[in-house]
Amino acid sequence: MKAEIVAVGTELLLGQIVNTNAQFISRECAAIGVDIYFQTVVGDNEQRLLASLKLAASRADVVICTGGLGPTQDDLTKDVLAAYVGRQLILHEPSMNAITQMFQSRGIHMVESNRRQALMLEGSDPLHNETGLAVGVAFTFEGTHFILLPGPPKEMKPMFTKYAIPWLRTMMKDEVPLYSKMLKFAGIGESNLEHQLIDLIHAQSDPTIAPYAKEGEVTIRLTTRAHSAEEGESKLFATEQEIRNRLGQHIYADQDVPIETVVVKMLEERKLSLAVAESCTGGLLSDLITSIPGSSNSFLGGIICYSNALKHKLLGVPMEILEGEGAPGAVSSETAVILAESLLTSTGSDFGISVTGVAGPGTSEGKPVGLVYIGFAQKNAETEVITLQLSGNRESIKHRSAKSALYHLWK
Ligand code: ATP
Ligand code: MG
Repeated sequence: MKAEIVAVGTELLLGQIVNTNAQFISRECAAIGVDIYFQTVVGDNEQRLLASLKLAASRADVVICTGGLGPTQDDLTKDVLAAYVGRQLILHEPSMNAITQMFQSRGIHMVESNRRQALMLEGSDPLHNETGLAVGVAFTFEGTHFILLPGPPKEMKPMFTKYAIPWLRTMMKDEVPLYSKMLKFAGIGESNLEHQLIDLIHAQSDPTIAPYAKEGEVTIRLTTRAHSAEEGESKLFATEQEIRNRLGQHIYADQDVPIETVVVKMLEERKLSLAVAESCTGGLLSDLITSIPGSSNSFLGGIICYSNALKHKLLGVPMEILEGEGAPGAVSSETAVILAESLLTSTGSDFGISVTGVAGPGTSEGKPVGLVYIGFAQKNAETEVITLQLSGNRESIKHRSAKSALYHLWK
C-alpha cells in the first residue's frame, strides 16, 4: 500500500515550524508496511490545497493530511475535501458535546466557529481526539483512503497511533502485515556496524535489515511479513541470532529505547547510586539520565565543573594537575580519575562518572578537538578511564561523550 502525507499550513512553508508530523507518520507507516511515496507541504490556500489533494489521490492508496482542522478561517482542510468528494459536513455529536462541556467547565463563552471542530464528512469514520477538540476523519473515496488529523503533534500523534493505524489495518486486511523489531546498539559507530554485517545486509530479502544512526546510538530494524508476533519472531530468529553472535556486546535493548533507560533500570535493579562530574558535556549527561522516570531512585546528582576553579574547589583536583608548565591539564586521564573518585567521597555514591574533553571548535591546552576522557570510579574497585577521539561538531561531541559514558557504565 502506498501513501502520501499532505501537511497543511502556511507556517510550514515559511519555515516557522518544522514538519515533525511527516517524520512521525512516515516512521509509523514504515513499521506497518505502508510505503510513503511522497510528502507534500501546502499552505492554507483553497485552490492549492485542492490541487495537492487531487494529485495525492491520483498517485497514492492512502492520503494522510495533518493541519487545518481548527476553528479559524484559515483552517480549510475539511471544507476543501468535502467539496472535492462531494459530501456534506455533518456534526459529530459526541465531539460537539465534548467541546460544549470544555467551554462550560472553563466558564468561557463558546463562539460559533468552535462548532467547526466537531464537523465530519458524511459517511466518514470519526477519529477521536482525546487531547484536543477537533475530531479527525477517515473515509474512502473512489478507492483512495483519506485520513484527516489536526496539526498540533500532541493531538495528532495519539490519534494516529490509537485510531488511524487500526483503521488503516482494516483497510489492509488482504495484505500480510509487517512485523518489525528494533535492536539498539551503543559503543559502535554506524559504519563499523555496517561493515561487520555487510554480507547479511547485501544478502537480505526476508527479513530486511535497515540500520540507521542517531548521535551515539545505532538502530537496526529487522522486518518481515507475519500474521502474528509469534510468527514474526520465528521468522526473524536466525538473522537476529547471527547479528547477536557478531555484535552482541553492543546490543543494549531489543526495543526502541535510549541507552539511559537501560542504565537507570540497571542501577535500580542493583540498588546502586550514581553521581556525575561533567566538564565538556555541561550537564547533558545529567539531563539524559533525569529524563528517565524513576532515575531519582539511583541518581544522586551532578556537578558541572566547567572551569578549572570549580574542578579544584568542589572536587579537589590539585591546581598543579590542572595548570602550569608540564601539568597533565584539565583534559587528562589524571583529572578524570580525581573527579570521579572525589564524587564517591563527597556524595557517598556507589559510582562516580567524570567527563572532561575538548568539545571544540577550538583546541584547548594544545589538545585536539574531540579528545575526551571519561572516568569511572566505583567503591572498592580500581578507577577506570576511557579515552575517546571523537569527530563532529561541538553538539555532536557533547552528545556522543554523554552516550559513551552511559554505554560504558552499562557494559
Ligand atoms: P488548531 O486547532 O490548533 O488550529 P489545526 O488542526 O488547525 O489545529 P494548524 O492550525 O494547521 O492545525 O496548526 C496548529 C499548530 O500545530 C501549528 O501552529 C504547529 O504548532 C502545529 N503543527 C501544524 N502542522 C504541523 C506539522 N506538520 N508538524 C509539526 N507541527 C505542526
Ligand atoms: Mg488551525
